[in-house]
Amino acid sequence: MKTKGAILWGVGEEWSVEEIELGDPREGEVQVQLAASGLCHSDEHLVTGGTPVAFYPVIGGHEGSGVVTKVGPGVTGLQEGDHVVTAFIPACGQCPPCSKGMQNLCDLGANLLAGTAISDGSYRVQAQGKDVIPMCLLGTFSPYITVHQASVVKIEPDIPLEIAALVGCGVTTGWGSATRVADVRPGENVVVMGAGGVGMNAVQGAAAAGAKRVMVIEPVARKREWAMDLGATHVFESAEEATEKVNELTWGRMADKTIITVGDIQGEDVQTALSLTGKGGRAVVTGMGNAANTDVKLSLFELTLLQKDLQGAIFGGLAPRAAIPELLGLYQEGQLKLDELATTKYSLEDINQGYQDMRDGKNIRGMVVYTDADR
Ligand SMILES: [Zn+2]
Ligand SMILES: [Zn+2]
Repeated sequence: MKTKGAILWGVGEEWSVEEIELGDPREGEVQVQLAASGLCHSDEHLVTGGTPVAFYPVIGGHEGSGVVTKVGPGVTGLQEGDHVVTAFIPACGQCPPCSKGMQNLCDLGANLLAGTAISDGSYRVQAQGKDVIPMCLLGTFSPYITVHQASVVKIEPDIPLEIAALVGCGVTTGWGSATRVADVRPGENVVVMGAGGVGMNAVQGAAAAGAKRVMVIEPVARKREWAMDLGATHVFESAEEATEKVNELTWGRMADKTIITVGDIQGEDVQTALSLTGKGGRAVVTGMGNAANTDVKLSLFELTLLQKDLQGAIFGGLAPRAAIPELLGLYQEGQLKLDELATTKYSLEDINQGYQDMRDGKNIRGMVVYTDADR
């Protein structure tokens, strides 16, 4: 079918909204009419070249929600009309990592940046006659996607579809970074570095887990205010300020857990996090950096003698098939804020404005909302 999508033709270019050709579902695939797509910082890494892809063009977007409109052969557990949220890591439930409870590391994610369809290794999107890589095998910057069944998670039909997109990436990643990977316990001191679409949800997760203090480092004033609304107890403008205040507040013990959720992580952020973390504490690396960046300087002395734990995290260490419905259930019960996160809604045509606003720190999460005019 012909539809449209936001395509990136090379590093440093703008998103180009143009006609695309989208394939019908093949073995194990479904087609989904999307209601919304989040504007995640990870797609910005395609613009800067920080995330290496096999080639350009790429169709961006990996945080979507919608309704299944077509079902290919061999699909089980999904039918036309089902409401779904996309999972930026496919989760098959059967491969060795999935079987061991690590769905966020599913082997089907092997070609995530190569863009070849799980079903048959083809490309399901073409633009100007060329094959297009769909970001994270999704490409939600289009009102329609054709994706493998492992890349979507069915949700309850009474959940507002637009807002549900948020749990496809940012919310779950932040929440799980606090509740699962940092394993925040009641009474702990937690530092969150960077209050964007991911960090705000690390704040929500840490608060829900019973942290005594949720201390946020964020240079943008408006985001510091939002963080306070979402459960932060203290906010600091810089790491220097935080280091001094956390030291004071904890009587020198520092944080039990520190979570790095900055949008473009640098080597020095890791040492900052480690220094903010006290003896026997854990620093979690959630934010993404440039794939080519291997420059990290650490105090090995501190790491060893103070028995600190440095841990990476993808999708907040959570299983998409379990976490997505669970978080939406918390939202329905009023225990997780989602509406407050979608600070500006854009049409697909305004996507470059949406990313400019992200760079300018104007949003927690900008969202593209699709209307009939897009289809
Ligand atoms: Zn994302
Ligand atoms: Zn798997």
